[in-house]
Amino acid sequence: MHHMTLAEIARGLADKKFSSEELTRTLLARIAQLDPQINSFISLTEDLALAQAKAADARRANGESGALLGAPIAHKDLFCTQGIRTSCGSKMLDNFKAPYDATVVSKLAAAGTVTLGKTNMDEFAMGSANESSWYGAVKNPWNLEHVPGGSSGGSAAAVAARLLPAATATDTGGSIRQPAAFTNLTGLKPTYGRVSRWGMIAYASSLDQGGPLARTAEDCALLLQGMAGFDPNDSTSIDEPVPDYSASLNGSLQGLRIGVPKEYFSAGLDPRIADLIHTSIKELEKLGAVIKEISLPNMQHAIPAYYVIAPAEASSNLSRFDGVRFGYRCENPKDLEDLYTRSRGEGFGSEVQRRIMVGAYALSAGYYDAYYLKAQKIRRLVKNDFMNAFNEVDVILGPTTPNPAWKLGAKNSDPVAAYLEDVYTITANLAGLPGLSMPAGFVDGLPVGVQLLAPYFQEGRLLNVAHQYQLHTDWHTRTPTGF
Ligand code: GLN
Repeated sequence: MHHMTLAEIARGLADKKFSSEELTRTLLARIAQLDPQINSFISLTEDLALAQAKAADARRANGESGALLGAPIAHKDLFCTQGIRTSCGSKMLDNFKAPYDATVVSKLAAAGTVTLGKTNMDEFAMGSANESSWYGAVKNPWNLEHVPGGSSGGSAAAVAARLLPAATATDTGGSIRQPAAFTNLTGLKPTYGRVSRWGMIAYASSLDQGGPLARTAEDCALLLQGMAGFDPNDSTSIDEPVPDYSASLNGSLQGLRIGVPKEYFSAGLDPRIADLIHTSIKELEKLGAVIKEISLPNMQHAIPAYYVIAPAEASSNLSRFDGVRFGYRCENPKDLEDLYTRSRGEGFGSEVQRRIMVGAYALSAGYYDAYYLKAQKIRRLVKNDFMNAFNEVDVILGPTTPNPAWKLGAKNSDPVAAYLEDVYTITANLAGLPGLSMPAGFVDGLPVGVQLLAPYFQEGRLLNVAHQYQLHTDWHTRTPTGF
């Protein structure tokens, strides 16, 4: 049962081959048995899951249908869930039970999904390895000595280990696509504004975007359908109709113009990954796509710009965690100043503190023009590069990451080394564009992802290309040994 995709589950439930309750019990048992190896969950919500599963079964018995009705999922632990711990992977929020559901959570619940639990993540979504969680590192099911990627490492590891078919995730600089690449999944970061951020605890508000992590493009289409749409509670949510993503999967790729940026194949890229990317390009050419070399000349400036903008926004967003209103409060504060500084000093981990300090520095009077303003100008150049490229091509293709998943601990002493691994993913966040990562092969037994980028609101095009690719390849069907 645990090998089924969301699409297969939907068919099985519709054909009454099994009930949502049976499936939910099977997966909960599997999580209890296998999750200790990978640590992908922070909280399990068994009671809620069984209640939702029974309710979904009852709705089906009453003649209701729907692709997500009775489908088990999990939420990254930064989506607020009413009455359930929403920790953001931090000691700061270990005792925080959200008073309301995030829009993504309530929309998916209304569609009939079953919430099995809340998944592990890098603390406040800061990281690329899921090692900064206060609840411990997540392990990659493909090799337990390697990281699963971050910050949505828990969602990715759980889906890769077949503990559940799909999960929600968020992507500020790659946190859906990079863990998808490291664990052989398909992950989609939608256009900024496509999915509501209301109730999604903010890291960097102008970059954060929620999206699906699943095994196939077909499943990403189903989950995105349940997440996307205008939300009056989120002023950056965009009031554009949501297309039928499943209907977009079957378009022909004949004549599709795929741009391959020459900057992507520079010295930092593992040559074995480069080979796999070229193989995937050939596969898409066989399906009718036309390949064109393009240039994204400002790409080299994107990492420094991102690592000014994201920490700047984080330093502002995280100022609300002060020991007074939410979360952790230090013992026996001497006075108010002591309460603030010790609550934050004890509640936040070192990576979060580093980001807050970098951000506060970049925003301070006297340095603002030199760092923050400059970074915003680079952001515009990065966006312009994409606008020029999309005048010539329909989709941009390249690697998702320069290297496969590294060993646990390998980059802990050198944060900049980890930041550099984000080189292919952060540009889409800076520009607000949609991006998808899909499985493209293996290096030393570790999965490799190929990334596709499209113009604003062309999620359907990304899903179409990925689905056609997945009909003709079988990388996405590979399962890690032991799971
Ligand atoms: N690795 C990037 C960072 O640490 C991206 C994280 C994310 O997308 N949430 O900021």
